[in-house]
Amino acid sequence: MTDFLYLPDRNYDKKFDSEVSKVKEGDGYIVLEETLFYPEGGGQPADHGVISWDGNETEVTDVQKKHGEAHHFIEGDDFPEEGQEVRGEIDWERRYKHMRMHTAQHVLSLVVLDEYGATTAGNQIHEDYSRIDFKPVEFDEGDIEKIQNAANALIAENLSVEKKMMDREQLEEEMDAGRANMDLIPDHIDPLRAVIIGEDDVCPCGGTHVDNLEEIGEIEITEQTKKGADTERLEFELEG
Ligand SMILES: [Zn+2]
Repeated sequence: MTDFLYLPDRNYDKKFDSEVSKVKEGDGYIVLEETLFYPEGGGQPADHGVISWDGNETEVTDVQKKHGEAHHFIEGDDFPEEGQEVRGEIDWERRYKHMRMHTAQHVLSLVVLDEYGATTAGNQIHEDYSRIDFKPVEFDEGDIEKIQNAANALIAENLSVEKKMMDREQLEEEMDAGRANMDLIPDHIDPLRAVIIGEDDVCPCGGTHVDNLEEIGEIEITEQTKKGADTERLEFELEG
């Protein structure tokens, strides 16, 4: 098992020391005892970065979580040995963009739930643009501007974004109906990592997020696409 150091709230740490617990040269990855690298999941891409030891340095090009272990995929064929002490450093520029985007996704998801009663059916974050699918809902042109304005007004309130572990039962009590699909989170996962915007937007999420909405900048919705009878896809970018 890998200890995921960014949980629940160390989202701004960039460097860590760890020990190599497994080396899978044939498969191109190593497993670490603990890591700050975010593994791809929940619509957020994996962190990139470097792992160094004894004067060696290698790039991490992908991170995948399997059975509680973080598989750090390494570029080239220079691998540390099992038991080796290593230092990891994440590509902060890339990660911080994902943190801003992911937090922006929460803002848009809560605005659309509040205004239209639609839930977030899926999302995919990238460094330069992201998308969210909402259902059941049908937007017209005026709605897009309305959503964008409401989201940016919320960001302008400079609300804090708290990240903490919460008992599943308590989280479900405090969460607005439709804010997340709890059926997708296996029952045995308790406590859950909660992301709380301001006083009352409680959402279970394992991703990385900024500490204050002001770090997002401004949301610009760049595209609206109908995906079937009752699903709408919004694409957005961030400015600032
Ligand atoms: Zn999130």
